[in-house]
Amino acid sequence: MTDPTHPETAGTRLDPWFGAYAARAHGMRASEIRALFAVANRPEVVSLAGGMPYLEGLPLDVIAETMQRLILTKGTTALQYGSGQGEEVLREHITQVVALEGVEAHPDDVVVTTGSQQALDLVTRIFVDPGDVVLAEAPSYVGALGVFRSYQADVVHVPMDAHGLVPSELEAVLARLVTEGRRVKLLYTIPNFQNPAGVTLSVERRPQVLEICRRYGVLVVEDNPYGLLGFEGEPLPALRSYDDQGVLYLGSFSKTFAPGYRVGFVIAPHAVREKLVLASESSILSPSNASQLAVATYLETYDWRAQIKAYRELYRERRDALVGALAEHIPSATWNVPDGGFFVWVRLPEGLDARSMLPRAVTARVAYVPGTAFYYDGQGSDHMRLSFCFPTPERIREGVRRLATVVNAEAEL
Ligand code: PMP
Repeated sequence: MTDPTHPETAGTRLDPWFGAYAARAHGMRASEIRALFAVANRPEVVSLAGGMPYLEGLPLDVIAETMQRLILTKGTTALQYGSGQGEEVLREHITQVVALEGVEAHPDDVVVTTGSQQALDLVTRIFVDPGDVVLAEAPSYVGALGVFRSYQADVVHVPMDAHGLVPSELEAVLARLVTEGRRVKLLYTIPNFQNPAGVTLSVERRPQVLEICRRYGVLVVEDNPYGLLGFEGEPLPALRSYDDQGVLYLGSFSKTFAPGYRVGFVIAPHAVREKLVLASESSILSPSNASQLAVATYLETYDWRAQIKAYRELYRERRDALVGALAEHIPSATWNVPDGGFFVWVRLPEGLDARSMLPRAVTARVAYVPGTAFYYDGQGSDHMRLSFCFPTPERIREGVRRLATVVNAEAEL
């Protein structure tokens, strides 16, 4: 029982149950920039912060018709509980989508999840004990770091360069951790158009990363929501296309279709898949049948490949607007030019701190995410992530002009 009078387990004035939380709940923290984002979401602010896809590019009339037909023809299934693993008709479609990246999977290998965010939660839940090490790129997706923190993992970052995760660094980090007697469970990687750094793991490095992880007995979690949103050429082969036993592939329809359906998935080896389904059933019983059937119907009846192509063109134009405006207005910063996805990772001129500058940027009506959000250990204050997915090119240019006034004023201090 919790002793409400003991100093370590006592409540506080704001939260009488403070002392009663499990240790893992103490690791769950609202980001310090969350309050600012409430302001950043006001229409007068140009938000280069969020990673929201631009849904006005979707054929909403076609989707409305599809939804209506779905409820009229399959309503009692769509609105019913479903299978913990997900609807077979959707799993079948998923195998065709991932085939575009060279993944050969059977519908039985697929577990449908409530967005790939739930997949991250399930994978961490079944593999990570408190104190286990999860390797992640430096920097890495803030939402995944939050999941790892909530399971009390210890995240160790591995450096990247312009070609993605650096294999020799991965090897060095693993060798050191093994010498220290640490248990390394997962390598969490976003190989394509990484969030937040925008870089892509080169084709040459893909088998090298897998070979190193295999040698150290580390399972690879390949999180790939952006893989089909490349601006140039064909999609690269997924890590899962080289190795069907050592890789868990996480996919999502959030960026290629719409996040509101909350449909993502994991492709996993047989035994892992069983555990994932059990873990998912214990948290949600089954993913939404209505959402799954809506996505399956969309894939069946609509030219989704053309839609992805339209998204690519739309996002490429916005990427060009962003990097063009940066070159014109903030030439003292440095950045990469991503070949796809949603993000540009900007290094500020020497001495500037993205986190402390953010309130001034919001006052100047522009928002971004400071680099510190993407590290487990407070690094990254010299960087910011700029998203080009949501604002129009004109708004992006206006946002960068506003940002430039803040950066220039800051640099003069
Ligand atoms: N992984 C990465 C790298 C992401 O950027 C996101 C969304 N921002 C997610 C996972 C979660 O996406 P969803 O749950 O919508 O599929």
